[in-house]
Amino acid sequence: MINEKMYALGSTRSKIRELFEYGKELSKKIGAENVFDYTLGNPSVPCPEKVTKTIISEVQNPSIHGYTSAQGDLGARKAICDYNFNRYGFSLSPDLTYLTCGAAAGLAITLRALISSPSDKVLTFAPFFPEYKVFTENAGGSLIYAKCDESTFDIDFNAFELAINPDVQAVIINSPNNPSGTVYSEDSIVKLSKILSAKQTEYGHAIYLICDEPYREILFDGAVCPFIPKYYDNTVVCYSYSKALSIPGERIGYVSVSKKAENAQKLYLAIAGAGRSLGYVCAPSLFQKVIEKCVDSVSDSTVYKDNRDLLVSNLTRLGFTCVNPKGAFYVFMKSPVPSANEFCDVCKTYGLLVVPSDSFGIDGYVRLATCVSTDLIKRSIPTLEKIAKLYNL
Ligand code: PLP
Repeated sequence: MINEKMYALGSTRSKIRELFEYGKELSKKIGAENVFDYTLGNPSVPCPEKVTKTIISEVQNPSIHGYTSAQGDLGARKAICDYNFNRYGFSLSPDLTYLTCGAAAGLAITLRALISSPSDKVLTFAPFFPEYKVFTENAGGSLIYAKCDESTFDIDFNAFELAINPDVQAVIINSPNNPSGTVYSEDSIVKLSKILSAKQTEYGHAIYLICDEPYREILFDGAVCPFIPKYYDNTVVCYSYSKALSIPGERIGYVSVSKKAENAQKLYLAIAGAGRSLGYVCAPSLFQKVIEKCVDSVSDSTVYKDNRDLLVSNLTRLGFTCVNPKGAFYVFMKSPVPSANEFCDVCKTYGLLVVPSDSFGIDGYVRLATCVSTDLIKRSIPTLEKIAKLYNL
């Protein structure tokens, strides 16, 4: 018999994908120049030249295409740990680092390793990346969330303390955040760590903090993204090169369990076991080599900041409301009417495609990706103006 849960996942597209496909159809009808697609988080800047050159030279190496060990080649794991040590002064261990097909695979296997009973819960902060729910449920647990403070999209610690309970095995934190662009401050991380430590004592079990960090390199206005293993021992880092190197289709990232974490070795082996049980085999070997050689490279994200400035200043001028994002490449704007879905449908009739916030765990907002061309933003401004007038902003 076909598994109904998997069928439901495969047959219903995410809202983002649905809108993206709609945009392609609409472009055929009204011309691509009249469609302003702000839906997808696909990096628009080129990958660093060093990365391109390394791919070209390494692809010619006949031995590059073989399987690597399941956790990834030691050279790449060492390079990752050395890099993080030099940058953050905190040493991760190559023996607790596991290369993955991006952060998505890293999160999926980490959750699988941490959830062992249907009553297990994973807590995150809304708004959040919608796939957390899919990965958590596939691992056999359920996702709960605490809403952020909507004036800043920083953690609302009262809401967090109300939401956490003895069934919570892990907390997922995503900074810089998709979709809000918030970068959690050092104060917030310290406070979160203190609450989690107290709750561990109270509940008598570990609560692991999973740091989902694909946007760690995309920061604006001097924002600093604290390296969370320095603040909280039971940390698992899920990193990805998708956005940092503009290579999301190549599928490369890693999971690293802090060596200070409780049962670090057992957790690491459970993560490896989860990868094995899902048939992941190993991360792409060519890109493991690319990471080993280009671990300190990063794409130039200046254009994301310029796009943010252009979009936020125009949205604000037109009467829309949004918190100025300090990282990642999204603007999270308040819908002028309570139903973000209704607002998105109206925007669609103008060829403007934005993502409603309900799948991010919060109502009444829309997400606009700023990893589009600056030209698209400029061309969309008269349309945004028409929509603002429609709502009397
Ligand atoms: N986490 C967040 C917050 C994301 O926005 C994304 C992708 O957009 C991912 C994880 C997955 O990224 P990848 O699997 O490409 O590393």
